[in-house]
Amino acid sequence: MTYKDLDSITDPLEAIRSLFAEMSSVKEDLSATKSKISNLNRNNTKLIVENKKLQAKVDSLTTENERLKAEIEELGGPRVEKNSSNSSIPPTKQSIKQQILQHTTSLREPSEKKPGGQDGHEGHSLDKCSTPEHTKEHKVKVCPHCGCIIPEDSEQTCFKTVQVIDITGPLQPCSTTEHKYYTTVCPHCHKSVKATSVTGNCKKVMYGPVLQTMVVYLYTVQSIPYNRIAEIMRDIYMVEKFSEGTVRNILEKNKSKATPVYDSILSFIEKSSAAGMDETGTYINNKLCWFWCLQCPKYCYVFADESRGIQALENHNIIPHLEDLILYTDRHSTYFKLKVRGHQVCLVHLLRNLQYLCDLNKEQHWASDVQKLLREAIHQHNLRPPGEIDVGGFKKRMHTLLEQDLSSFERKDGNDFQAMQNGLINCEEYIFTFLEHPEVPHHNNSSEATIRILKVKTKVSGGFRTNEGADEFAAFHSIAETAKRNGISKFKALFKLVADMAPGEDFIEKLIAEND
Ligand SMILES: [Zn+2]
Repeated sequence: MTYKDLDSITDPLEAIRSLFAEMSSVKEDLSATKSKISNLNRNNTKLIVENKKLQAKVDSLTTENERLKAEIEELGGPRVEKNSSNSSIPPTKQSIKQQILQHTTSLREPSEKKPGGQDGHEGHSLDKCSTPEHTKEHKVKVCPHCGCIIPEDSEQTCFKTVQVIDITGPLQPCSTTEHKYYTTVCPHCHKSVKATSVTGNCKKVMYGPVLQTMVVYLYTVQSIPYNRIAEIMRDIYMVEKFSEGTVRNILEKNKSKATPVYDSILSFIEKSSAAGMDETGTYINNKLCWFWCLQCPKYCYVFADESRGIQALENHNIIPHLEDLILYTDRHSTYFKLKVRGHQVCLVHLLRNLQYLCDLNKEQHWASDVQKLLREAIHQHNLRPPGEIDVGGFKKRMHTLLEQDLSSFERKDGNDFQAMQNGLINCEEYIFTFLEHPEVPHHNNSSEATIRILKVKTKVSGGFRTNEGADEFAAFHSIAETAKRNGISKFKALFKLVADMAPGEDFIEKLIAEND
């Protein structure tokens, strides 16, 4: 009902009743609104107080900030971490991480291109020289079809010449040898026969084995980067126009040739009864990767992988070669997931870890007692033949030490002793393996030494630019290191490899036999 039109009121009493009802509802609304407003007022007051406090805090912080800025200014300006790019700190004094960052961070925009000449670019092919120092004639002596001996005076025609350029010595010009290949018709079976090639499928000019070996050797054994190898070739051995791209080509070509030799090493290691393993981090294309090593006294196999876990061993098909081996390693968990004949944990590592505990808490004897026990076992091993050592006694004494409660030795909030004890409990059965197997060493020093070269490589050139580069390094390093373990110089082994037109799986055996 509306009362705008007073004339419409017919029943005044009813109208008053209705007005009263409306008034009381408005009163209720009003009191609710009033209470809301007073609530809001209270809140507002609170916020104003808070805001004032905050304003005061901002003021005080601003003042403090200005004071600190002035102080920094007084102390010689803002601090930036110093490195060789912004101070006189030499690059070698920086952390390896910083060194790599700097090695691999360039002001130049990164390019997707591989080093050296690009695909499709003709490059400068080597030119034939008109006056080669040496000439070597390759005539047909025996017919490969019927076995008949070709008479020396039979007419033969030269069908191909290949020149081989090789280094001769420091500051000595390169020498060129021209190989002349002949063909003739067999007087017996009348088939056309050709002399065997000693220059592969090269059609014109190639670099000789000494030069190629030098490149492989400098890259692998001395860890020298591509550009500096090229410089050595130009400056010391007077090889004209020798580029990074040529270094890359030589490595690539020889790596594919070396693959059967590299692969064959695994089958030699497989047959020895024990082998050491270790892994070390390096950078491939700025990514942290791992170089793994599997080695025994006479053979060594290294490979690179992105994984530090079992995946790496699967990727390189290593696992089937390990089944009959006792592995000596550090305590990296991957090794203990493998199905092998047995394990030996590296006692040198354990002794070092225990030494930390000795230094940490000089009041306790537990750590030094474990050290004493390990040292005694090593001493006995050096002194007596394996059958005469009381291995059970050693194991029992170790077990007693591993049952001891070490909680009172811990630092406040520390668990170093507990962690070490748990670690030892986990490998308890692999501590004294070497006492029962004379072929197993009590340490893993040789594996560590084998991959230490990667630390040099990382320092010198910040790691590898490509996976191919890392794989080449791994293959050549494995072959060179295996040669060294058999008393053969690394350079000589690499030379034999490069000079061999098609080295096969028996390459290593032949190399060792030749040297005996
Ligand atoms: Zn014939």
